[in-house]
Amino acid sequence: MQKDNMQQNSQLSRRGLFGAAALAGVAASLNTTLLRGETPATATRASKPIQGAGAYAFKVGSIEVAVVSDGSFPANPKAWFPKTTDEERAAAMKNAFVETDAVPTHVNTLLIRSGSEVSLIDTGCGTIFGPSVGKAVENLARLGVTPDDVTTVVITHLHGDHFGGLLASDGSLVFKNAQVVISAPEIAFWEGAADLSKSLIDKETGATFAAGAKKTIESLKKSGRLVEGVPEKDVALGVSLVAAPGHTPGHSVIQVASGDSMLLYLTDTLHSPALQLRNVDWHMVFDVDPAQAVETRKKLLDHAARNRLLIAGSHIPFPAIGHLEKISSGYALVPSVWDW
Ligand SMILES: [Zn+2]
Repeated sequence: MQKDNMQQNSQLSRRGLFGAAALAGVAASLNTTLLRGETPATATRASKPIQGAGAYAFKVGSIEVAVVSDGSFPANPKAWFPKTTDEERAAAMKNAFVETDAVPTHVNTLLIRSGSEVSLIDTGCGTIFGPSVGKAVENLARLGVTPDDVTTVVITHLHGDHFGGLLASDGSLVFKNAQVVISAPEIAFWEGAADLSKSLIDKETGATFAAGAKKTIESLKKSGRLVEGVPEKDVALGVSLVAAPGHTPGHSVIQVASGDSMLLYLTDTLHSPALQLRNVDWHMVFDVDPAQAVETRKKLLDHAARNRLLIAGSHIPFPAIGHLEKISSGYALVPSVWDW
C-alpha cells in the first residue's frame, strides 16, 4: 500500500497539478517527526477501514450539512507544542486522558448543500499523506455525493491536510466542476515572501510548506478555478468565511447560517482539542504568527461559548459537532448527541 502510494506520488510529481516541487515538499514534510511525531515504524503501519460511519449528516436550519471524515493520524504533543515543558504537557495529557506521545488526531472536511450549491470545506489529505488519511471522497460517497457534484471547494488555509485532496492520483483535479475559494490574504501571503520568522517551525519544514502552498496557488491560477474569498461575503447560500488569522494569515473559519440556526466551523482554531481547550495559550508549531493565533483562538472560543453556538472543526474528534462550555481552566467540549 505504502509502496503503491509512493509510486503514485512519483508519477504525480511529473505530471500532477501541483508539480514536482509541491509534491516532493508535501511528501517530505510528512517524513518529518514534526507533523506526525511518529517513528518510521509507526508511520508505515497498515491502513485499516474506518469504523462505523465516515460521514455524519445534520441540518443547520434548512441547510444540509455533513462532517465527512478524511481519517486520522497520530500527533506528538511535544513536537506540536514545543514551548511547553514536560511537566505542563504531562499534566494536560493526564487531564485529557491522552497519556501517549501519539495522540489520535482526526482530519475532517465539511459538506454543505444549500440552494443549488454543493460546497466542500477543505479536501483532506488526498493521496499524499499516507494510508490513514485521504478518505474524504470515499466517505462523501456514503452520502451519495460524487466529486463531480461539488460546485465550490473552500480551502480554509494552505496546509497540506486541507488542500491535499484537490489532486487525484492521475494528476487531475478531483473536483473538476468546482471553483476553489481561498481567502485573499492567504493567497497573498504564500504567493509572496511567506515570512515564517515568527513561527516555531524549523526552517527546512517551513520552506517545504511555503513551496507547496505557492505551487498550489500557481496551479490553481493556471486552471482558472481560483476565486479570492472575501470575509462575510457568501461563497454559497448561507455559507461565508470569517477571518481567523494567526495559524496562517488568511486562515478562515466558516459560518453556516439559516434562519435562526448557525454552525461555526472552527477549522484549525484547535489542532488538539483535548489539550488546547484547557490550554488556549499554547503555541502550535505550525502557527505562522503564534501570538495572533492565540488571540484569535481566545476570541473565537469565547464567542462560541458565550453565544452557545453549534461548533465543529477540522481536528475535533468525529463527528466533531457540539458546544463549548466555559470552565475555570478554559473550555470543555460538550459533544452533540449522535442522532441515529
Ligand atoms: Zn489542519
